Amino acid sequence: MKSMIETGQMRQLEANRCPVCTWPGARPLLEMRGVPICCNVLWPSRAEALQAPVGDIRLRYCADCGHIFNAAFDPGLMSYTEEYENSLHFSARFQSYAHWLAEHLVGTHDIRGRTVIDIGCGKGDFLATICATGDNRGYGFDRSYSGESATHRKDLDLTFVREFYSEQYAAIAADLICCRHVLEHLADPIVLVEQVRTAAGRGRDAIAYFEVPNGLYTLRDLGIWDLIYEHCSYFSPASLEYLFRNNGFLVLEILDLYEGQYIGIACRRATAGAHAGGAHAAAEDAAGHAAAFAARFRRKVKEWQARLDLLRWQGRRTVVWGGGSKGVTFLNLLTSPLIEFMVDINPRKLGKYVAGTGQQVIAPEQLVDYRPDVVIVMNPVYRDEIREKLDTLGLSPELLTA
Ligand SMILES: [Zn+2]
Repeated sequence: MKSMIETGQMRQLEANRCPVCTWPGARPLLEMRGVPICCNVLWPSRAEALQAPVGDIRLRYCADCGHIFNAAFDPGLMSYTEEYENSLHFSARFQSYAHWLAEHLVGTHDIRGRTVIDIGCGKGDFLATICATGDNRGYGFDRSYSGESATHRKDLDLTFVREFYSEQYAAIAADLICCRHVLEHLADPIVLVEQVRTAAGRGRDAIAYFEVPNGLYTLRDLGIWDLIYEHCSYFSPASLEYLFRNNGFLVLEILDLYEGQYIGIACRRATAGAHAGGAHAAAEDAAGHAAAFAARFRRKVKEWQARLDLLRWQGRRTVVWGGGSKGVTFLNLLTSPLIEFMVDINPRKLGKYVAGTGQQVIAPEQLVDYRPDVVIVMNPVYRDEIREKLDTLGLSPELLTA
């Protein structure tokens, strides 16, 4: 979702060393070759989209803390610019989630009339929401930020810094430091966790709130379209908790969010001598799923390939709905000349082309002329929202959930 930070992290991962617990015995889990390195950058022409740079994913699983990471990840290939577009803000379903989360954090941790930092704030939508909810002032950091504050409420006290968050900003005394959907992009997540720990110690006893995609959703529920090059880490609840407990934080709560697709963790600096501990019991939970994952992954891809082949043979017009990472990965893992268009409600994506496979992104309204027989819904969370939209357009294609 959100774009990014990182802190000039150019170090490549050591093949076997877990970036969370540093255990050097992580085992191979799955390989994916030649995937687009930037799913969330769409291209101005089909030709450019087909030439989009690609990289390999070599997933490894750490049985010690339950973490999964891409050992082939090269942070030098990543660039998060204004072209990086992963906002989900245009979905009513996502907005209601963001509002719920803001109210939860404000209510549970009493963040009212306080200072909030959002690291990797993207377009600043969540920061604006939490500042409006608790009457807070906000500082947002993001390299890809491009002045969207014009779209936020004028009476909010928001400051945006178009830079990576770094030590030099640790002097901002915050009461809440948020960092959502950033850690999974970092080759060395410990560096950022340590920076936030330093910042959290300045004057006030700040709450740190981090949110990441739930790696268990990928492993256990076969959310395989979430595997993308940009994400070098796939946290399980166990590995996320390990990361914070082991780096000087006291964990206050771990949240299972967005129908199991995200994990949130709220914590505070631990006092000296607090027990760090491990997360072995919970990590075992992931171990069983990891053992069967590669075979289940291949079976799911094969089943979808057969389904697309059948739809093509039947001559049924088919589109993919969802221009985020899931849709891009789906199209790149499967081969089918059947699908011409990807549908998305984010106006910033319209008219552009999908990295690697070259479908054009169109608005739902354009389906009125195209009249699809089948719509493949990339994220089950949006199924009802998509059905409603199709109803208002007078369309009733079959919906398949990927
Ligand atoms: Zn580990």
